[in-house]
Amino acid sequence: MTSIVPVKLVCEEKIIWQNPRPSSTRFCRPLRMSFEKESARVSVAEKKNRVEEEIRDLSCSIVLYGDNFVEVRHTLILSMVDGKVCNALTETSSTQKCYLCGGMSRKFNLIGKMIEKEVKMENLHFGLSTLHGWIRFFECLLHLSYKLPIKKWQARSESDKKVVNENKNRIIKEFREKAGLIIDQPKPGCGNSNDGNTARRFFQNAELSASITKVDLKLIKRMHTLLVVVTSGYQIDIEKFRDFAQNTARYCVQCYPWYNMTPTLHKFFIHGPEIIVHALLPIGQPSEEAQEARNKDFKRYREHFSRKSSQTKCNEDILKRFLVTSDPLISSKTKLPAKKSKSLPQTALELLKSAAPPANPDDDDNDESDSTDTDDYM
Ligand SMILES: [Zn+2]
Repeated sequence: MTSIVPVKLVCEEKIIWQNPRPSSTRFCRPLRMSFEKESARVSVAEKKNRVEEEIRDLSCSIVLYGDNFVEVRHTLILSMVDGKVCNALTETSSTQKCYLCGGMSRKFNLIGKMIEKEVKMENLHFGLSTLHGWIRFFECLLHLSYKLPIKKWQARSESDKKVVNENKNRIIKEFREKAGLIIDQPKPGCGNSNDGNTARRFFQNAELSASITKVDLKLIKRMHTLLVVVTSGYQIDIEKFRDFAQNTARYCVQCYPWYNMTPTLHKFFIHGPEIIVHALLPIGQPSEEAQEARNKDFKRYREHFSRKSSQTKCNEDILKRFLVTSDPLISSKTKLPAKKSKSLPQTALELLKSAAPPANPDDDDNDESDSTDTDDYM
């Protein structure tokens, strides 16, 4: 599925309209849906042969406003993409390779060297895909914790495998009993149970998570701060953020030198500051969340809100429902779901520009899909 989300309407620096929930599906308009496997080839073809061409051919919208004609120019940013699509679009064949600096994961722990590497500027606009950030950080700590008893990147021998497996089962069991979290379990129909909500709860209860996983508490807290800052939608103090991210990377390596940093950790720690500097909108505002939620809507609409008498009719109903649920007029008249009371932790506030007004006071809530319902700050 390819979708488009309007973010804001600007007239000479002045913001005339701003999407209060850019991560929600309320303004997420469908561009195209197609039944095919999401492969590298398909992603590249969609971008190069279709989306880019359509963007090039875009003309201004002329609107009659009072007695005047107003010309609206459109700027499109390709941002609702996750890591997999990024790799495909940047022709990064290995998932263990960084599409920004070309570094390989076995070298990611050499922080000093990684910082010095040159970055492919043209790839910075893909952003950070913040929803996946939560999940990937969480999974990374989880996999690290499974291997803690053997302190090895890979469990090769039978005895090591046995130890890792027993530890894994203990951790899964304790998370279910003490935190009510189902982790690392396959979910019928959609991947596994490690979704954004599970990840957020893992980081929110850092003390409990540390006691179950035996992972360093300070590391969990630092990662949480980093994620909260990038998803806050506020202006970030880049220099402070850079120090914080690099020190977290060093601390991670110092605690667990045997664990190879994953590409996502590397991207956030090493390239996060550059990505934020080059982002057209505050990072965390354009996220892939709306797109992800739409994939879930698709399944729901097909099952419950479509005619099954023919494939064409079925698709027609789904597409119409996508259009209705994202209609700008209808969506702007429906009440926003109540804002959850959120306050940023002090450690996160210190990395933000305090003087700057909040870029987006109503932060992202996903009101359409329960499993993607997000509580971005905490
Ligand atoms: Zn890199």
